Amino acid sequence: MSNKLIIVMVDGMRDDMARDSLGYIEHLVDSGLAARTTVKSELPSLSRPLYEVLLTGTPSSENGITANSSVRMSGQESLFHLTKENGMVNASASYYWVSELYNRAPFDFQHDREQKNPENTIQHGKFYWEDDYPDSHLLMDGEILRQQENPDFLYIHSMNVDDTGHKFGSNSKEYRNKILRMDNYLSELIPLWRKDGYQIVITADHGMSEWGLHGGTTDEERMVPLYIISESVKKSRFESVMPQILFAPLMCRLLEIPKSAKMKKLPESVMSMLEKK
Ligand SMILES: [Zn+2]
Repeated sequence: MSNKLIIVMVDGMRDDMARDSLGYIEHLVDSGLAARTTVKSELPSLSRPLYEVLLTGTPSSENGITANSSVRMSGQESLFHLTKENGMVNASASYYWVSELYNRAPFDFQHDREQKNPENTIQHGKFYWEDDYPDSHLLMDGEILRQQENPDFLYIHSMNVDDTGHKFGSNSKEYRNKILRMDNYLSELIPLWRKDGYQIVITADHGMSEWGLHGGTTDEERMVPLYIISESVKKSRFESVMPQILFAPLMCRLLEIPKSAKMKKLPESVMSMLEKK
């Protein structure tokens, strides 16, 4: 394996339901091929603020992205900035808010759906805006970017789990089914990605309450899974809970690039998850 990395961020997928429903991915953990831990999201447990947390490693009190209505570009150094600066090729298939944070705000629906420009922070992008844009299609948007652009860093961001959680609540057949389907789609892609030498990370921004809400402080809203397939990480189930603010510097570690000045130094609790090199 190299330092190439694919992150699949499943919007709104809570930790316990991921454990119950991601049969294939949990099989990889049981088989000693993947690591798993739980991540506690930053606050507020909302999408746009947490996209910024995941990608820049800064809290909303510092980065100013405090609400889903914060339609402005990030002022922080993201994983897209850092990969580009370090001569890596990056790409993303994501909800349009990701384009608004790092490429252009507000989103221009006529021009920003597909973006290909090595000068952009996100160099190769495919962006969608309907919350029920099918995960099956979104994953293939990401896979096409991978096939065409051969990115060193690919960020794929799905929305159906969150959308269905809002409509039916997390204690529903519908919500669970969207997670089962995500597992099924990934069970076809992960073997391809592994064969091509990618490290693979699967996580979520926030969870979902039984009422179909998030934004608050409960474990249902904050606890999310983190799966890592990488030779750099011990293949084990870690019982500790990782603060989400450490996600971005951990991804820099997997990409073998320096973290930004604002990202936190990885504490011993996270360093102990890494293989000694
Ligand atoms: Zn949501």
